[in-house]
Amino acid sequence: MATPAQGISKLGFRIWYERQLIESHFYFVTGFMCTVLIMALMEELNLRGPGPLSLSSLAMIVAATLVGIFAMRRYMRMLNRAEALAEQCVCPGCTSYGTIRVLDAGVIESDEQPQWMRVSCRKCDHQWQVESI
Ligand SMILES: [Zn+2]
Repeated sequence: MATPAQGISKLGFRIWYERQLIESHFYFVTGFMCTVLIMALMEELNLRGPGPLSLSSLAMIVAATLVGIFAMRRYMRMLNRAEALAEQCVCPGCTSYGTIRVLDAGVIESDEQPQWMRVSCRKCDHQWQVESI
């Protein structure tokens, strides 16, 4: 998985941001579909009924729950990271939005390993630092 700095360097901020939103909403739809599947399976689940059908339904509920939790956590993380970076991508020099060029990047040493990027504006060459979660 590419870091935000790698993605922005390769695609430019606006395309990277758009792809993050599209990809994160793919995870949202996956999480939503898992919720619908869980509700449908819960309706079919009969713990007193014949074993194999009930056990397979129960196994599918557990699997859909795990996939759904993963998908929704990923959705929230991607969306929050993209929004946090978008807020910092307004040039302090000329107020242009999303016209950044990544000069350097690294990892901040802490538990969650947030990243920093030294960026410059493509219009006025003003430089500043942004941090991603
Ligand atoms: Zn600027």
